[in-house]
Amino acid sequence: MSESYDLVVIGGGPGGYVAAIRAAQLGLKTACVDKRGALGGTCLNVGCIPSKALLQSSHHYEVANHEFADHGIIAKDLSVDLKAMMGRKDKVVEDLTKGIEFLFKKNKVDYFVGEATVTGAGKVSVKPTKKGARKINLETKDIMIATGSDSTPLKGVEVDEKRIVTSTGALSLTKIPKTMVVIGAGVIGLEMGSVWRRLGTEVTVVEFLDHILPGMDGEVSKTMRRVFKKQGMELKLSTMVTGAKANTRGVTLDVESVKNKGQKDTLKADVVLVSIGRRPYSDALGLKKVGVELDERGFIKVDDHFQTNVPGIFAIGDVIGGAMLAHKAEEEGAACAEILAGEAGHVDYGTIPGVVYTWPEVASVGKTEEQLKEDGVDYAIGKFPFSANSRARAIADTEGFVKILADKNTDAILGAHIIGPAAGDLIQEVVTGMELGASAEDIARICHSHPSLSEAVKEAAMGVAGRAIHI
Ligand code: FAD
Ligand code: NAD
Repeated sequence: MSESYDLVVIGGGPGGYVAAIRAAQLGLKTACVDKRGALGGTCLNVGCIPSKALLQSSHHYEVANHEFADHGIIAKDLSVDLKAMMGRKDKVVEDLTKGIEFLFKKNKVDYFVGEATVTGAGKVSVKPTKKGARKINLETKDIMIATGSDSTPLKGVEVDEKRIVTSTGALSLTKIPKTMVVIGAGVIGLEMGSVWRRLGTEVTVVEFLDHILPGMDGEVSKTMRRVFKKQGMELKLSTMVTGAKANTRGVTLDVESVKNKGQKDTLKADVVLVSIGRRPYSDALGLKKVGVELDERGFIKVDDHFQTNVPGIFAIGDVIGGAMLAHKAEEEGAACAEILAGEAGHVDYGTIPGVVYTWPEVASVGKTEEQLKEDGVDYAIGKFPFSANSRARAIADTEGFVKILADKNTDAILGAHIIGPAAGDLIQEVVTGMELGASAEDIARICHSHPSLSEAVKEAAMGVAGRAIHI
């Protein structure tokens, strides 16, 4: 069987499926190939969505256990039905992935289930995952690679997805472990560690660096370290894992101090989560044969227009590196499709927000204080704590702050960092402001509804000029 297209997208994750729909909207005859059997990629199937579903369920349990009494609600003998909790998560995932199949049909995107390889310029071969099905050859003007990423392995710690798991295994445990060691205090480790800690697991996080959430504003990282400790998570910083032995009863990990070489220890856990980053999925695509250049870490090299060094082959999303975030992949997918359709697609990499969905949430956009210092920028800070925000008091969620960094001379907003309730939604006001070239004063002079958490953003913006009212 042979089909001919304007664009074949390899990978149906948030980058690939958005690109395919946008290309079809713009009149390109488009196909999307994904081997998973369900659209939505890592994000919908084993990433953003299932993790947020479990974060929500476990948050409800924690609040019911520890905070209801403050509201005068007596909830006795609470327990977790893990099977039901996992079932809800699976249903959310299934409904959303089916939704993308519907969107493909609506936009006339052809969907092929199978493993794709690039066999030449304008040639994609699809090996269907269905047993016995014959290979399909697709002819196309352009190819867009959106194959995403996979968990980075750790030497000496072999993943079996039962005792030693990646995020995928951690999203589907069938029993609440008594103990868990999380390797890596990044976003996955802290989100998944929070889920299981809230459900009753004793969680220890082992991190190579001397701080958590690398890349985030230093004050945010320090504050969150205190918050996680207070919540009962043990954090072992400046510690590296050197090996692991797993048997039916659990895992024994060998660890060593990074600062005092030779200072060794062992840690025992029912389950170990390896979350030390993700690597691009660029193998097994036939890219070497067609001459597509990769960097030393396997990311596909592209120019400003997502074009690889081979004409007609483009790449977007996790597989090209940068922030490994679903919304970054989506923006790139849409921009690349627009460029291919002759329009002016563009991504503003300076205003991509990042959110950690723990509780409190952590959200950031733009520069950190450390980056501004390094760049020698003269900046002013406006900071407002949620403990002084009336809505946060009313809902009893007062941990955290809003911190806005602005240019001291022009007042342009350079960055914002929020720890607090709904920080992931609050950050969007600052993102919009930055995208439209707003100054801190612009946000400070916008009327915000009362009582609302968003007033903390306004007060922080006012604080840049030293004129916050409620502190
Ligand atoms: P992917 O989503 O990885 O999709 C690539 C697809 O390509 C996959 O379905 C794969 O099966 C398919 N594929 C690969 N090779 C082939 C081939 N040869 N032929 C056919 N198909 C192929 N990001 C956020 O922004 N917010 C979050 O809250 C968030 N939470 C996360 C939680 C977890 C546990 C994880 C692991 C990740 C999370 N991420 C989150 C990151 C997010 O999932 C990724 O950044 C995003 O999915 C990248 O999108 P993509 O389209 O580039 O690739
Ligand atoms: P990460 O890069 O966020 O964190 C990995 C951590 O592991 C780092 O702190 C690193 O110093 C540490 N580390 C590395 N090697 C180590 C070792 N040998 N021993 C101990 N610690 C070690 O990676 P992640 O948490 O695996 O997440 C992967 C990607 O997925 C991230 O890029 C993130 O953007 C994305 N993601 C995003 C969200 C979200 O947006 N809410 C959620 C989950 C994942």
